[in-house]
Amino acid sequence: MPYPVVHVLFFLFCVGSVAVYAVLGSLSRRELSFRDARKLLLLVFVGGLSTLLPDIMAVYNVLINGNLDHSLVGSIPTHSFLFSSTAIIFGAFFGYAAYREFDKAVYMAIFAGSAFLTHLLLDDIAEGGCTYLYPLYDRRISVFSIMDTGFADAGGLFNYLIISFVSVFCVFIVILMVLFALNKFGFEFGYRAEK
Ligand SMILES: [Zn+2]
Repeated sequence: MPYPVVHVLFFLFCVGSVAVYAVLGSLSRRELSFRDARKLLLLVFVGGLSTLLPDIMAVYNVLINGNLDHSLVGSIPTHSFLFSSTAIIFGAFFGYAAYREFDKAVYMAIFAGSAFLTHLLLDDIAEGGCTYLYPLYDRRISVFSIMDTGFADAGGLFNYLIISFVSVFCVFIVILMVLFALNKFGFEFGYRAEK
């Protein structure tokens, strides 16, 4: 289990590197207003806390039981798509509270959900899997062990290509969710054709 600060830094500076790049550009051109800064802080707050939600039980267990158990709420694994609903609700709540618009609440929910998922990906790398599919499948699965599949293990070139695509697609879709949400909160990504 990477420590909380690593999860937050991974989300902000690795998955969100394009946003950091855009903000630094705006800062260097002195284009950021106080209102913009508040919006950016809201994104950092929602993203930062959402990426910590899978380990939320560590806080409870340290205070109450004196241990670092952090992977279950009752019988529900916190490192699962099911538990990502907490981040989605959390993001939607703050999105609506800040903007009073349904659309913005949905985009903030997507942003929070993707932040949550980056936590699972990082734990997957560190621990060799997460219980992503609970309760459909309650054992650990690793996106990254699938990436390591060779031709022979996959049972042929076609299967190998499909498995490779699926494993990379899992990471791609999380990053794409972040970019999509950021785009709705003022970040623009586009291709500038050379003249
Ligand atoms: Zn964790």
